Amino acid sequence: MKSLNLYDIEDLRFEEIDKPVITSPTDVIIKVKATGICGSDTSRYKKLGPYQKGMTFGHEFSGIVENVGSQVTSLTVGDRVTGCPAIVCHQCAQCEQGNYSRCESLYVIGSLEPGCFAEFVKLPISNVLKLPDNVDFTTAAMVEPSAVVAHGFYKTNMKPGATVAIMGCGSIGLLAIQWARIFGASHVIAIDIDNHKLDIAQNLGADFCINSQTDDIATTLDTIPHHIDVAVESAGALATIGPVLTLPKKGGEVLLLGIPYADIQLSRKQFEKILRNELNVIGSWNGLSAPFPGKEWSSTLHYMSTGELKIEPIISDVLPLEQGPETFDALVNKKRAFDKVIFTP
Ligand SMILES: [Zn+2]
Ligand SMILES: [Zn+2]
Repeated sequence: MKSLNLYDIEDLRFEEIDKPVITSPTDVIIKVKATGICGSDTSRYKKLGPYQKGMTFGHEFSGIVENVGSQVTSLTVGDRVTGCPAIVCHQCAQCEQGNYSRCESLYVIGSLEPGCFAEFVKLPISNVLKLPDNVDFTTAAMVEPSAVVAHGFYKTNMKPGATVAIMGCGSIGLLAIQWARIFGASHVIAIDIDNHKLDIAQNLGADFCINSQTDDIATTLDTIPHHIDVAVESAGALATIGPVLTLPKKGGEVLLLGIPYADIQLSRKQFEKILRNELNVIGSWNGLSAPFPGKEWSSTLHYMSTGELKIEPIISDVLPLEQGPETFDALVNKKRAFDKVIFTP
């Protein structure tokens, strides 16, 4: 089958490899219909390299059930599905308490096991979710990042009528704008340095958009008659992780979703905001809860089905898998601008 395998930093190869086979009675083999490039994939491609040389890359996808193990009764061949790519041990103390995102040995397919940048992928039945009829494959390829964002929001104390600021309007931020609304925000403020991303943010329901490169955030916020209850960091960048601490009202919350790939420095003033404003700073990892994989996934599918989670405006490119190597190169070396990229194997 066709696949994209990561050999080294900036060494991604389009290759023919063997199809996965059923080895456990709970295995499900899925024919991949759509699979997305995640920010963590680009960081691994550009900076970190593979966990295992030549591993099939990718972890966000949707597809059709191709084959099932003997103990799989809840799905049949031909079912439309998406997959939770996180594999947990179900045995450690955190797993026993249902805190699967804190599993001691959590990993995601595409790292230690083959991922979904391929024609077929294998997952245990516990990780496979059936799609509502009206959710298309491209939309469903973004169930995983949406579940990751939802996981963070479930940790907040958000109440209806809240004002939420989102810093960083990449795919995660654009999902966060929509989740903020679903969690009851009456006002959503989007902050980014790219007017194109801010246009999409507005399209997806942001009430106020601030370009932090051309406008001073504090001055602009002074013109908005709402105090920020929750500030979400969704870029994982040096330029946002410090400033996000300055956004919430006293006693407000900061939700950290973005993953930095460099050291982060905070100014004294930024750090002091946590103390003086008695902020609740919330770290969030992956998107898992009990019962596995959690309400993050079922809610995502529900809101995709109702149309309250819109994916189409976030996607800029739907490409054949063959174009993987040049697409990653263009993306990380900024040869052109992309929003979310989806491959169709
Ligand atoms: Zn991802
Ligand atoms: Zn565990």
